[in-house]
Formats: sequence, C-alpha cells, structure tokens
Amino acid sequence: MQLDQAPSRQPIPREGLQLHLPQVLADAVSRLVVDKFSELTDNFTSPHARRKVLAGVVMTTGTDVKEAQVICVSTGTKCINGEYMSDRGLALNDCHAEIVARRSLIRYLYSQLEHFLSNSDDDHQKSIFTRCDNRPGFVLKENVQFHLYISTSPCGDARIFSPHEAGVEDQGDRHPNRKARGQLRTKIESGEGTIPVRSSNTIQTWDGVLQGERLLTMSCSDKIARWNVVGFQGSLMSYFTEPIYFSSIILGSLYHADHLSRAMYQRITEIEELPQCFSLNRPLLSGISNAEARQPGKAPNFSVNWAVGDQALEVINATTGKDDLGRPSRLCKHALYSRWMRLHGKLSSTLRIRTVRPSSYHEAKQAAAEYHSAKQTLFRAFQRPGLGPGSRSP
Ligand SMILES: [Zn+2]
Repeated sequence: MQLDQAPSRQPIPREGLQLHLPQVLADAVSRLVVDKFSELTDNFTSPHARRKVLAGVVMTTGTDVKEAQVICVSTGTKCINGEYMSDRGLALNDCHAEIVARRSLIRYLYSQLEHFLSNSDDDHQKSIFTRCDNRPGFVLKENVQFHLYISTSPCGDARIFSPHEAGVEDQGDRHPNRKARGQLRTKIESGEGTIPVRSSNTIQTWDGVLQGERLLTMSCSDKIARWNVVGFQGSLMSYFTEPIYFSSIILGSLYHADHLSRAMYQRITEIEELPQCFSLNRPLLSGISNAEARQPGKAPNFSVNWAVGDQALEVINATTGKDDLGRPSRLCKHALYSRWMRLHGKLSSTLRIRTVRPSSYHEAKQAAAEYHSAKQTLFRAFQRPGLGPGSRSP
C-alpha cells in the first residue's frame, strides 16, 4: 500500500477509544454508503441518482468493519424558498445531504426505541439501546458507533478555504490566523454558497421572510460543529438518551485536515464547562484513499432520503420542502414529533426530563433544559474569538 505523506491528507484520529484503523474505516464507510446508493438507484441509472452531494451514516457495533451497516443515505444541496416555510412543521427547510442524513438517523433512533418497547423478545434484544443502570433513560449498547460520510467537504468554514484537493506537497493552512478562518456562515436562500453571519441579519422574522427577506440557514460546517457539542440527537431525543456523538466524519473529496478540524471543533476548544454528559466531541476526521471526482453539471433541485427499513428512496423538492405532490416528508418536524409523542407517552416512567405532558412542540423542546444550556455555552464559545454575530462587517 502506497501511503500518502502529505500532512493535509492525513486522518486525524478520534479522541478516546479507537476501535478501527482510520483509513480502513474511512474507506469502508465510503464504500458502504456509495454501494447502498447504487442499489437504491438501480446502479445509478434512476433519474434520482443525479446529485452533487451524497451523505450517509454507517453504524459499527464492534471492532470488525465487516459488520458495519448503512443506516441512511441522502443527497441534496439546497434549502427551502422562504415562502414555502410551514408553520405546521410540514416542510423540510434544509435539504443539504448531511442535514437530511441526520434527520434520517434520528428517525432510525426512534425506531430502535420502538423496537426496545416491542413485545417481541427478538426485537427487544436487537435494539441498539439498553436501559441505563441506575438512572432514567437509555444508552447505546457498548461499542455502537455512528460514522458520518459526506461526499465532499461540508459547506461553510470547512469548504471555503479548501476548494481543491490537497496536493501532495500541501503543507497545511499557511494563514491559520486570518480573521476569516473559523467564522460562522449561513447558507443563502436559492443559492449554494455561504456568507459570514452579520449582526444586521441575525434576527429573522417569519413575516419578514414570507415577504421576501432572504432566509438564512446555518452552514453545514456550523451545524456539525454544534452536533459535536450538543450531540446529533436533538433536544427531543434527549428526553430518552444522553447526547450521542458521531465517532467519525469521513469526506469523499476535498478533505483538508487543517480546515476540517478547525471547522468541526478546533475553533471552539475554548468552550466553557458543559453540563454533565455533554463534552466537546473530537471525532475521527478522514478523507478516503481514492477521492471522488467532482460531480459535473447543474445541481438538481431535489433531495432524496432512505433509512434502514424503508422500501425506497423518498424524493423531496428542496425548494418547497415537500414532495412533488405537496405531501410532507417522513423526516419533517411534524412526522418526527408525532413519533416522539407516542414514545413520550409509553416511556413516561423512565424519562430523563420530568415534565407534564408538553402542550406544544415548542414547549417540549424548551423543557430540555440541559440541552439548551449546552447550546448556550456553545453560542458563547462561538462569540468569544470573534467568530460569530456582530463581530465582523462584510
Ligand atoms: Zn451544506
């Protein structure tokens, strides 16, 4: 095996327990996601195989990479047009592939909790969750790990300074202290780039956006950095489980060690103490041995998703956030919240957050106090070095 010596191309190992060899794991994760996508698109011949970015999550349950399983796959590079936002939670606002992959993964976690509650012993045993020993809630079984694959560098801070593959002689970021490094960035409506967050446009109002003000959505780099602090499970899932973090983030192309590590966690290492159970997660970061070629052509307007147990891909129009017949996605807030409500009812005796049955989505989310405290701590970490709102003019 010819090992590539350029420092920018080297994997950065995960902090904590290493169950796999980084490059072996990265290549396996990439292959599994691409193969699953091929299977779901009849060997890439389906019209819905068209894509710019492909993402997916692979689960490992031990040290053997051969036992890894694809949990979900998704594509997409666009966000909703502000006029289609749904006040009933029926539309997907952000259809970037990695964001859709996380929503699919949450759907999978719900199904695993449902398995746990199932009357069938077999289903119960097969669940990836087990009850916590002496406190309420659930934990993942030992050695269960999730690995996020993205076919290219996530938009925003990770990608903006690494638009090309790292060269063999690439010695890393030559200007790591430039002010533009590490800044929070937002996606712009109906576009594919990102811009730094400015104080003047951080307050968005519903009526403003409906009237045509540009809808700003956090870049994928910033969202993933957030998952590395508060977990990817979201506030609702935190009623049932402790925070769950990605063990690896694998890029199919444009992997650049300095830029990716800065965007994912290095820019917030000064973060203050987090609430119990939360920590700054430093996952394995790695490219793959044979980087994927750039996907030429115009980016399609649709985004697809699939998770274990689904018959087929679901195709969502990224502009409207629904399918072409106007039906809501299985990943929309409304759908996930309905499932959460059922679980909340069944698990009321073992919830990590004790509240009376919440009367609204907002109330349910707000009651996750520790989660919100962790999020506020992250927010302060982003503001401190001048990365966030109000600190820079364009
Ligand atoms: Zn993105």
